[in-house]
Amino acid sequence: MRRLFFFLSVAALSACYVPKTAVNKQIEPALLVNGKLWSSFFIQSSAEYDALCYQAYNFAKFSLDEVLKAPSGKPLAVVTDIDETVLDNSPYAVHRALEGKDFDARSWYEWTSKAEALPLPGSLDFFNYAASKGVTVFYLTNRDEAERKATLENLKKYKYPFSDDSHLILKQSVSSKESRRQTIAENFNIVLLIGDNLSDFSTLWDKKTKNERSKNVELTQSEFGKKYIVLPNPNYGGWEDAIYGNMHNLTTAQKDSAIKANLKGY
Ligand SMILES: [Mg+2]
Repeated sequence: MRRLFFFLSVAALSACYVPKTAVNKQIEPALLVNGKLWSSFFIQSSAEYDALCYQAYNFAKFSLDEVLKAPSGKPLAVVTDIDETVLDNSPYAVHRALEGKDFDARSWYEWTSKAEALPLPGSLDFFNYAASKGVTVFYLTNRDEAERKATLENLKKYKYPFSDDSHLILKQSVSSKESRRQTIAENFNIVLLIGDNLSDFSTLWDKKTKNERSKNVELTQSEFGKKYIVLPNPNYGGWEDAIYGNMHNLTTAQKDSAIKANLKGY
């Protein structure tokens, strides 16, 4: 009887015991991963997100109309990023977050190969408007050659103008877009740059610190809504990379620590 009581007691205690690491995991899930569920929730469920996209493209149209009033030596071009500027990849972020994972190249290729990303509100109308005014559109993206076919398929599905090989400028070796902007500028007057990431506009934001990024925005503030048209992206971008010191080899725990260190409470 005493032995039975002992076994029952051990069994009861075992049932209650949860390893400390598991408790931590339950109480303190990865900010990095779960945060993307919340930001994707905003992208996918808020009319405010749609309104911000329309606002950006309304500014783009207004700005383009102003530019069109003046003569230009070279033909005019609008240079736009693709991801989170033209196409919405939030389903990828949700898919990964629900698996408890963040971005990686292999899963990203799986997603882009589907060519299923939806257009962002206002984007298709704006690029069709630009094309109707004789303005060339270049899609300048850090997707790479492996994604060329599916990217064009995705753009063509919604009939984006200039969705062809010569207007899709993919990443070759470097992520900075500066040399590709300069190549376009040899033959075109780039009148508008559209993107969700400040490095879509200038080297002022290529791999810079959080403070440098902010300072350079302040210095160029008059360009926003004029030459630089910004789309909202709370899921990822140079703003997040800056917090990690622009290093891509940090663990999830290290990234979580960096995020917490940059949060202000009271
Ligand atoms: Mg982008």
